[in-house]
Amino acid sequence: MSAVSPSRTGARVERQPLSRYTTLGVGGPAEVWFAGDHAQLAEAMEAPYRILGGGSNLVISDQGVPERVIRLVGPLAERDLDPDPLLSTDDEIVTGWVGGGVPLPGLVRTLQKSGLSNLEGTVGIPAQVGGAVWMNAGTRYGEMFDGLHTIEIVTPQGTRQVSPDELQWGYRNSGIPRGHVVSRVRLKLRRSTPQAVLEKMDAADQARKGQPKMKTPGCAFKNPGGVSAGKLIDEAGLKGTRIGDAMIAPEHANFIVNLGGATAADVHALLDVIRARVGIPMELEYELWPEQL
Ligand SMILES: Cc1cc2nc3c(=O)[nH]c(=O)nc-3n(C[C@H](O)[C@H](O)[C@H](O)COP(=O)(O)OP(=O)(O)OC[C@H]3O[C@@H](n4cnc5c(N)ncnc54)[C@H](O)[C@@H]3O)c2cc1C
Repeated sequence: MSAVSPSRTGARVERQPLSRYTTLGVGGPAEVWFAGDHAQLAEAMEAPYRILGGGSNLVISDQGVPERVIRLVGPLAERDLDPDPLLSTDDEIVTGWVGGGVPLPGLVRTLQKSGLSNLEGTVGIPAQVGGAVWMNAGTRYGEMFDGLHTIEIVTPQGTRQVSPDELQWGYRNSGIPRGHVVSRVRLKLRRSTPQAVLEKMDAADQARKGQPKMKTPGCAFKNPGGVSAGKLIDEAGLKGTRIGDAMIAPEHANFIVNLGGATAADVHALLDVIRARVGIPMELEYELWPEQL
């Protein structure tokens, strides 16, 4: 696809298929704005936009989206993990800035090697830091808000830095309104040892053993009324059901995987089959772009 001219502030702008940025490998074209600093981010936000992280919770239409899609790159995808000498103590450190575009898995591994605890419960979540903070991603072993000191939020009206106490955060929810961009964070980490952190990570890793290793946007449905969505789909006899190149994973029925050439239309058709066969209302875990089909 053809490149669009660079923006006024030097942000790279290119029309691209979004499939390359989602863990499902599905998604049509959009104008992608690569924002490397605050000026570029502010310019990208001057027209209707969406902010894309690791694309690990998204099913994007085959037609793409009409809005600008912002990706955080350059300094907004870099990390300074040095302890701030003024805020750190013998037990706890506060880091420098970690960009919203930093991949979470690599960060979690680095913290483990440095013997720094608080985020190991998020091991295996294929998000970027900004997306993971926005959702307060986590597992039963821990979540993003366990390790945050300051969150920088950019809106078209400006930039503010807040502490987690100032947000109404909770289970898989940061309280940050949609469209407000988590541009950077400072982490609050407890000093531990690489071995102790590794042991906790292993427990969280172990819980993922049954999950498929193929391209997927994670769990398809929330557990309705506390009942396992995967169990309901399995009991409906749907494991391994395939439409086009989208398939209900044989390993875990609440995961739809892309066998190679799946389209968003294939995935939606499969979701419809699940809803019809399970027969009780089920709420999607993924986000759809656009929200209305
Ligand atoms: C294999 C697999 C396993 C998973 N396991 C878990 C798990 O154990 N626990 C869990 O909680 N989730 C899990 N997920 C889901 C997913 O990783 C999380 O929801 C994650 O928070 C999505 O982050 P992302 O950066 O990929 O965001 P995206 O999918 O790119 O976007 C999701 C939403 O976040 C917004 N967003 C992205 N970046 C920013 C930003 N910088 N500022 C503000 N908003 C932003 C987007 O606009 C969008 O609304 C899993 C997914 C997969 C594929």
